[in-house]
Amino acid sequence: MVRFLRMCRRCLGFQKRSAYVDNYFFKANMIAGIYMSVLIIILELWMIIRTTHKIAVEDLYSQLGYYFSNYYIYYIVLLTTGVGMLTFSLLFVTGRTNNKFIGNMIKWTFAFVSIVFGIMVSVNDYSHGEQILTFLTMELFIICLLVWRPWVGFLILTISYLIYLYGLGDLVGGINDIVPVNVAYKAVIEGNEAVAGITTATKINLFTMWLSSMLFCISNYNKTLVQAEKDENLEKMNRHLSQISVRDDLTGIHNMLYFRQESDNFLRHSGSDNKNFIFLFFDIENFKSYNETYGFHKGNELLVTTANMIVDAFKGSLVSRYSDDHFVVLTDSKDSEEIAAKLSEEIRKIEGEVKLDIKCGAYKPADGEYDPSLACDRARFACNSIKKHFDCNYRLYDHALEDKFTLKQYILNNIDEAIQKDYIKVYYQPVVSTENSCIVGLEALARWHDPNYGLMPPGQFIETLEEYRQIHKLDKCIIRQVCRDYRNAADKNLPFVPVSLNFSRLDFELCDIVQFLDEMVAEYSVPKAFLDIEITESALVDRQDLLTNAIIRLRSTGYKVWLDDFGSGYSSLNVLKDYQFDVLKIDMKFLSGFTENQKTRPILKNIVGLTKQLEMVSLSEGVETKEQFEFLRSIGCNRAQGYLFSRPVPIEELRTRIADGELTMDKEYMIGA
Ligand code: C2E
Ligand code: CA
Ligand code: CA
Repeated sequence: MVRFLRMCRRCLGFQKRSAYVDNYFFKANMIAGIYMSVLIIILELWMIIRTTHKIAVEDLYSQLGYYFSNYYIYYIVLLTTGVGMLTFSLLFVTGRTNNKFIGNMIKWTFAFVSIVFGIMVSVNDYSHGEQILTFLTMELFIICLLVWRPWVGFLILTISYLIYLYGLGDLVGGINDIVPVNVAYKAVIEGNEAVAGITTATKINLFTMWLSSMLFCISNYNKTLVQAEKDENLEKMNRHLSQISVRDDLTGIHNMLYFRQESDNFLRHSGSDNKNFIFLFFDIENFKSYNETYGFHKGNELLVTTANMIVDAFKGSLVSRYSDDHFVVLTDSKDSEEIAAKLSEEIRKIEGEVKLDIKCGAYKPADGEYDPSLACDRARFACNSIKKHFDCNYRLYDHALEDKFTLKQYILNNIDEAIQKDYIKVYYQPVVSTENSCIVGLEALARWHDPNYGLMPPGQFIETLEEYRQIHKLDKCIIRQVCRDYRNAADKNLPFVPVSLNFSRLDFELCDIVQFLDEMVAEYSVPKAFLDIEITESALVDRQDLLTNAIIRLRSTGYKVWLDDFGSGYSSLNVLKDYQFDVLKIDMKFLSGFTENQKTRPILKNIVGLTKQLEMVSLSEGVETKEQFEFLRSIGCNRAQGYLFSRPVPIEELRTRIADGELTMDKEYMIGA
């Protein structure tokens, strides 16, 4: 029932309308006003010309007053309101005025004058025995072309019809007041008694017209209403979309899309002021550990707090969230270094187990340089260069960084070509048994032989490839080469020992590396026991399903999985608790302080003991002296790797050294021969 009433209220136009819908109606009416007023103006001009012509030809002097009071005055009034309506509507649609009050006044005047004109002319025509079309035409114009709330339409229609009927009736009632009237006239001719008023047939016709106009009014209103509401929703949606497209979901500050657009604008339109602008890149130090320690929710809170802190510190500048815990600023402030120091001070005040800090890299764009992406990249590069430098929290991008940055760009631009042209080579570093010093395994390590840069060790390119998510390309290339080396050796009946491959945490995200490994193994007919996988401890700090599953998958398929760089991070023991490994590779930092630091020995002894307990093989990397090797043997460490035995070398060199008797492969571990 309530719904029905609500529907009726809506249908009849009694409901409250939003400002948008109101405007929509107003606009619709102003556009309709143009058509109508043009029509009216043409009609009235035509009537004026016609009447003038008639007067001029027939009775110029005698009837001028009569014609003026009976015709001209209506035409002129209607013409004037028509011109008024047209002028206002045109001003409105061309955006020159938006005054709704005046617009509505004009609309109402126009409607009123049109209807009054219709009534006058039709009553007059009727009295001459002519048709009553003018009134009906005007009604149709006003009710059907303009959009009214149905209840308003009802009032206009009904009142004007009643006045009109009254006019006709009055005329008939006061028969012969002016001139003979249609019905009365006919009645007289036919010898009947004159009927006061109009015939029932005319009344029925008029009622039918009234009803059709009313129904049209309702339908027109509702159609326009639905359209207006649809438009309003679309507009709202659009506004919402454009809002979210420039805002960062989490922090509510601007996102990079906005930053790129606006900074580009700034730089292009700042002219010589360009020199004063500086790009800043902020990175929260230890955010990852904070997230792990306090959880995702707290991590998000920290991001919001930091975002607000940066926005406050750089009022009036462009501030956006770059990604994760990174923010960028474009500012003309000359105090950016001081502000960055204050921000760092503030963030360090946040109490807790994890020591937070914020690092800032800065880049001043050169004259005429408009590329915000490159500028952010350089500021970011400067920022990364001071990561883990506890005494430094601000770094300006300078010439010293420029060379490194150029190398980074070079690596990213050339990695595909380097792979394609075989510039990437596998070097093998032996792993020996502490029992007999024979080779029981080889670690595959990447080298880039570049025509411009010469021989590049992985330290120069791995980090960049990881940062820009290209590392899987390199790792796939190494897998393929190792499998190919195996096949070549097997085809020549040369012996080989298992090779361990370094996998990046990102390999599991960027591609299905396990499947790729399987494909290569199948393509080159490699026994699975030939390949081991090294996963560095730092990859495993945050427990991820992706990695857990991958490790389980690798082990169940027949590959051995090694934990690389054990002891290099904070959560080494957690990693041992959460995952199962075959070999534990003790980070070389334990051996680097071997002679000076007396604590090293008991620590190493304990790690080796723990490894045994957990039924894993222990391997120490970075063995450089005989003394170290002897110690490792004495504490029961199973394997050793380091410069003492060999640096990483190409396969041919390794084979020459084996052939020379310098190195020996352990028969027990040999595969393929
Ligand atoms: P890592 O896996 O810890 O590899 C051991 C690194 O220590 C190698 O450096 C090796 O040359 C070096 N090394 C070996 N013995 C000694 C020693 O006695 N003393 C000293 N000071 N260093 C020694 P490299 O080849 O420069 O590799 C550096 C890192 O690059 C590797 O560390 C590994 O994390 C990464 N890496 C190398 N190749 C690849 C690869 O194909 N894929 C991926 N994802 N990472 C790779
Ligand atoms: Ca390794
Ligand atoms: Ca290592």
